[in-house]
Amino acid sequence: MKILVVGSGGREHALVWKLKQSAGVDEMICAPGNAGTAQIAENVAIPVTDLPALLRFAKENAVDLTVVGPDDPLALGIVDLFTGEKLRVFGPTKSAARIESSKIFAKELMRSQRIPTAEARTFSDSDEALRYCEHLTFPVVVKADGLALGKGVIVAPDAATARSTIEAMMNKSRFGEAGRRIVIEEFLRGTECSLHALVDGQNYRLLESARDHKRIFDGDQGPNTGGMGAFSPANNWNSELQSQFEENVMRPVVRGLAGEGITFRGLLYPGLMITGEGAQVLEFNCRFGDPETQAILPRMKSDLLPLLQATIDGKIDNYEIEWDTSAAVTVVLASGGYPGKYVLGKRISGLDDAARLENVQVFHAGTKRANGETVTAGGRVLAVTALGQTVESARNHAYEAVSRIHFEGCHFRRDIAMSAIAR
Ligand code: AMP
Repeated sequence: MKILVVGSGGREHALVWKLKQSAGVDEMICAPGNAGTAQIAENVAIPVTDLPALLRFAKENAVDLTVVGPDDPLALGIVDLFTGEKLRVFGPTKSAARIESSKIFAKELMRSQRIPTAEARTFSDSDEALRYCEHLTFPVVVKADGLALGKGVIVAPDAATARSTIEAMMNKSRFGEAGRRIVIEEFLRGTECSLHALVDGQNYRLLESARDHKRIFDGDQGPNTGGMGAFSPANNWNSELQSQFEENVMRPVVRGLAGEGITFRGLLYPGLMITGEGAQVLEFNCRFGDPETQAILPRMKSDLLPLLQATIDGKIDNYEIEWDTSAAVTVVLASGGYPGKYVLGKRISGLDDAARLENVQVFHAGTKRANGETVTAGGRVLAVTALGQTVESARNHAYEAVSRIHFEGCHFRRDIAMSAIAR
């Protein structure tokens, strides 16, 4: 089989790496990919949002299956376009992807299905939103309705911040169309956990749990990022939470979507806050998480390809997924200055040295080849994953590998998975 993976991050490198191990795969292609995917697949320089070019490429090259990594092409309707042309593609349709691309749609669905989530109100009029702020107890969370590169969620500790956020989103178009409508919701306290499920329209299979680290600095300080590290399994997850989650979240969401005439086929990843009252849904994502995927896939013993195929064909209930009992820890190496401004093109050394270590996988994110060298090409540059019998040993291996890699300005958190180590 010939498989095309769409995307260029660490998630896509992990998907290419895992699918490449499948017996059924002869050829892997990544669009546009990075320096890591170039080592194990053919990169083609097509941007993820250029749907006509992706379609043309898949047709002309007789691609058997396309796997979509990021949310943007899904929200733009890549799956509708490909299936309309009789091409096989893994991911939800444009209308199913609204569960991620519209927070208002997701909130309404959760409300109608009584899925546990923060109390919220939605606004399309900024004056109304500003008036609403006068009566709130803070903190509250202000969210742009649409996709905003993970930056459309602001925790407002006081009324002044809430007001300026509303102004920026609704009146100053800080996120363009995405911020025209907003959600203001209750601030939930607890610890976060990411669950991934392969959903085939009716049935689903959960992947192993994971936790990510969103803030840029140790101790969860500084601004939010795309994710600075992850570990799996999550230390705040257990079988009791899981059965409640399946009963209160997974079954209702699949049923609720079907009730609206939407068949969700793809990866559904609810972001959860584990509170004193159980798991509450913060958001739904409709694609693999980054960097969670880099921690989860190295633990998956099963072949991923038949699972993706079964998801597309509505047959996931014929499959059980096997997992390695090891823990995985993923540390992200970022460009200095990220998530603000940073400089590109820094030479990266030590990659081979790190990759030679046992139980270590170096996934590339923002990297490219230039003049025979691997150089930085994005904010998040690498995601280094290590497996270990315990979280502590996985963590030690991961940081050992990280210590071998160098580039000017490299920044990484030193406390990834610390919360999972008994002290
Ligand atoms: P979202 O994109 O909705 O998951 O939000 C991004 C991040 O904002 C989450 O991972 C949480 O850290 C935080 N967040 C979102 N909603 C809430 C909430 N209701 N209470 C507390 N934190 C939240």
